[in-house]
Amino acid sequence: MKAACLTGKESIVIRDVPVPEIGPGDVLVKVKSAFVCGTDVRFFLNGKAGVDDANPRVLGHEFAGVIERVGARVAGYTVGMNVAIAPNYGCGICDLCVSGHSEMCAASEALGVSIDGGFAEYVRIPEAAVRQGNISQIPEGLSFAEAALAEPLSCVFNAYEKIGIFPGDTVLVIGSGPIGIMHCLVALMAGATNVYISDISEQRMDLARSIDSRIRKLVAGESQLREFKRLTNGKLANLVITAASVGAIQEQAFALAGQNGRVMFFGGLPSGKSVVQLDTNEIHYKQLLVGGTTRQSLAQYRKCLELIASRAIDIRPIITSEGSLDDIVQAILEARGGVGLKRAINFS
Ligand SMILES: [Zn+2]
Ligand SMILES: [Zn+2]
Repeated sequence: MKAACLTGKESIVIRDVPVPEIGPGDVLVKVKSAFVCGTDVRFFLNGKAGVDDANPRVLGHEFAGVIERVGARVAGYTVGMNVAIAPNYGCGICDLCVSGHSEMCAASEALGVSIDGGFAEYVRIPEAAVRQGNISQIPEGLSFAEAALAEPLSCVFNAYEKIGIFPGDTVLVIGSGPIGIMHCLVALMAGATNVYISDISEQRMDLARSIDSRIRKLVAGESQLREFKRLTNGKLANLVITAASVGAIQEQAFALAGQNGRVMFFGGLPSGKSVVQLDTNEIHYKQLLVGGTTRQSLAQYRKCLELIASRAIDIRPIITSEGSLDDIVQAILEARGGVGLKRAINFS
């Protein structure tokens, strides 16, 4: 089979490799659609510990496909079933796993990160993931590409469930990439009446507005706070979400939140750059709640598949181009450079 193998820093090569063998508890999925995420971009740019030419890793944790083969002991999944795969699975027995947070398990593994993922024609889903419910049947009427986007959408949904968005809220999302736009779509679904997106690129904010004209632009820069005060009659935001991996944005977020507001740190910062300066008096005197989230629970993944299928969230406009596995490096460079939103990597 064809697989895109990370072999080191800035090196992904398409190789012909054997189709993975499966054990009696495993499932083999034929990938139909996959997407690049910021995590893949980081591994491409920086390489990955333990990964080299002799020990390559297939990236890709946002993918969906068809079950090609099931192990003899597997129940509940059958050959030919259309499925979307949540990437993170845990030990299954610790307190976090038992509470439904296998994604936070100390022994958690992730397809496309710690084991081979979806940038290949076939991917082995290990028994632990099969038994924990990482494989979800794709609801009727949903394309493989749309289903694959349940992964990033459920990361966004995790932030929503943690920090809360309420009818009538004013929400400001900083960063007009695919994730920032998904935050806006979730906020609108939750009943926020004023949803702003802020970015240094006017063109990216226009792209957000072309997806939903209810999204308003707030130009980033020196006059941002003054302008936001004017737009909100001095009330500022009930919730500020940072959806870009830039420390300065986290520093600004507190000033842009209003009295009794909330701040969600969604985008992580590059390692070594995660210490930022915060005016903690903004938190104290404005009574701000500050939260952070990463990944998603399996419950959130399944719920997002339903939200996409019902069109409660129309995810289709997030897919702005299509290509094949041969274009993987281009897709990564596009994701890095902010070209379009998401390029679907489709397999025949
Ligand atoms: Zn991702
Ligand atoms: Zn665990």
